[in-house]
Amino acid sequence: MIRIKHLSKRYKTKNQEVQAVDNVSLDIAKGEIFGVIGYSGAGKSTFVRLINRLEEPTDGSILIHDKDITKMPSNQLREKRQKIGMIFQHFNLLWSRTVYDNIAFPLEIAGVPKSKRKEKVLELINLVGLAGKENAYPSQLSGGQKQRVGIARALANDPEVLLCDEATSALDPETTDDILDLLVSINKKLGLTIILITHEMNVIQKICHRVAVMENGKVVETGEVLDVFVKP
Ligand code: ADP
Ligand code: ADP
Repeated sequence: MIRIKHLSKRYKTKNQEVQAVDNVSLDIAKGEIFGVIGYSGAGKSTFVRLINRLEEPTDGSILIHDKDITKMPSNQLREKRQKIGMIFQHFNLLWSRTVYDNIAFPLEIAGVPKSKRKEKVLELINLVGLAGKENAYPSQLSGGQKQRVGIARALANDPEVLLCDEATSALDPETTDDILDLLVSINKKLGLTIILITHEMNVIQKICHRVAVMENGKVVETGEVLDVFVKP
């Protein structure tokens, strides 16, 4: 479903160049929970930002359903990006908007009519277990509840892929488990492909089917989670 070929990203700053992603090739299957693990600075964040085109690659291609998103005209890209959901370490919610309005926001941008919007938002609120919190503001929520809002918002436009950038790194272990359980149930229920980047091995071991290990921008190992972490 996602085919990444020879993907590279080089940042040029005034006095130096950084090869953040270095010739990465990977195939990720539909419905898979795929983990990318590595130390800070390994290039994980750049890698996911390339997949949703927050960054331009220096080289290589990213095919989603056989369409190369690195070569798409901007109008098609806008549509495609609505099909790529993303959640973040610090949630990135709109602090002046309620739970309901945070989740409705991507639907508004996509031009979904009001009545449809409402139906979808309420469905998502139930899916992530936030019924009763519609009118709460993010500041009134726990970290786990904030991430549930983030997940609901990311799912609003029925994405094909959900990108998770250190999505549990700001949460305590118990809340981390709750959020990981929610991601697994969404993966099963919707058949959604999930790409999850983290520096935490336990997160990968808990929910990922396959994993890629990144070091200095390169994928140094890839395979089934059990094969990569538990050597025979
Ligand atoms: P990770 O998510 O694994 O911590 P990053 O993708 O954030 O890794 O960073 C990979 C490398 O690219 C690091 O050396 C980092 O300093 C560098 N880098 C990341 N973003 C930028 C940027 N916008 N400009 C210049 N260098 C960057
Ligand atoms: P609008 O498009 O003007 O926001 P809506 O009918 O979608 O109109 O909703 C009006 C406001 O009421 C929303 O901004 C939201 O905060 C709140 N709201 C709508 N439906 C619900 C609901 N079922 N539960 C809680 N709050 C709701």
